[in-house]
Amino acid sequence: MPSQQYYQDLLVTMSQPKQLIDPHGRQIKYLRVSVTDRCDLRCSYCIPKGFKDFQEPDEWLNFDEMVRIIAAFARLGATQVRLTGGEPLVRHNFPELVDKITSIPELTDLSLSTNATRLQKQAAQLKQAGIERINVSLDTLNADKFKDITQGKVQKVLDGLQAAKQAGIKPIKINMVVMKGVNDDEVQDMVQYCIENDFTLRFIETMPMGDTGREASDQYLSLQVVKEQLAQQFELIPTQMKGGGPARYYQIANTNINIGFITPISQHFCETCNRVRLTVDGTLHLCLGQEHSYPLRDLLRSGISDTELKQHIIKAIALKPENHEFSENPSKLVRFMSQTGG
Ligand code: SAM
Repeated sequence: MPSQQYYQDLLVTMSQPKQLIDPHGRQIKYLRVSVTDRCDLRCSYCIPKGFKDFQEPDEWLNFDEMVRIIAAFARLGATQVRLTGGEPLVRHNFPELVDKITSIPELTDLSLSTNATRLQKQAAQLKQAGIERINVSLDTLNADKFKDITQGKVQKVLDGLQAAKQAGIKPIKINMVVMKGVNDDEVQDMVQYCIENDFTLRFIETMPMGDTGREASDQYLSLQVVKEQLAQQFELIPTQMKGGGPARYYQIANTNINIGFITPISQHFCETCNRVRLTVDGTLHLCLGQEHSYPLRDLLRSGISDTELKQHIIKAIALKPENHEFSENPSKLVRFMSQTGG
């Protein structure tokens, strides 16, 4: 005979909403999970030079804890998960996590953000574990410039991209942060590279996240300018792409290539925000550009039930702010991107 606790939990479960709606009427369907805050690159606008204050292993959620939180979100109506970081591929046994997440039946979309430096070795295994599509950061094709921006080697990324293509991962989306005086002269080369390789290309505006992001504000370039320049050379046809992300897409006429513009500063998209972020230490961040957060790790480790976990998630969603304030209050955010998960 089931216990009294069982019936109590059942009653609470039945009275819980099946959807996550925030106070501004947006349904939260998308969870980004940062599997590590460490990275093997040091992009100038992201991790500060010489930064060493990473989370320690005992602060990290283990894979079962991550899967438990993701499954709770899925039971509350989330259908999309993106694994990110830091650099997710530096986390030991990362494909095992992918494999575990694919067993959550409610999820319809599992994707990965990576810098691709380790993709050559892992692409086939990741595809087999269940990664269908990836986003790869690549700001330049020029080896010297890549070294300047990231301290890494561009050839590793290019090899990783070819391995992903051969493994059958599709679409592959390239994320290029466009910076004035740094790589804005390479926009057309990057379009050409993506046409040749059948990749989608997305341009991103620099955001004032942490001191590094703020220092990069000097290099901020509105993507409206980039779009106007490209429109002089290519016919851009408005289109849609699967992914639920904030990019506005255009197909380049007479090609199969889509280009996307992610414009958090010049044209923000907070009114359609459907996502929250889970950091590796088990904190839910309700907005990329605000400090509102809700810690879940210690609750999990104190032995709460799945029903209680869902109640905490519902409470957290109630804290989601209406919008970021990157333009109004650019010095607000202390966290840099790699700490939250891009
Ligand atoms: N390592 C993975 C990667 O390279 O895609 C995932 C994490 S990375 C932090 C995610 C994305 O955030 C990258 O595309 C990176 O270019 C972007 N990013 C980091 N700091 C940024 C900033 N201040 N402004 C705009 N984009 C930023």
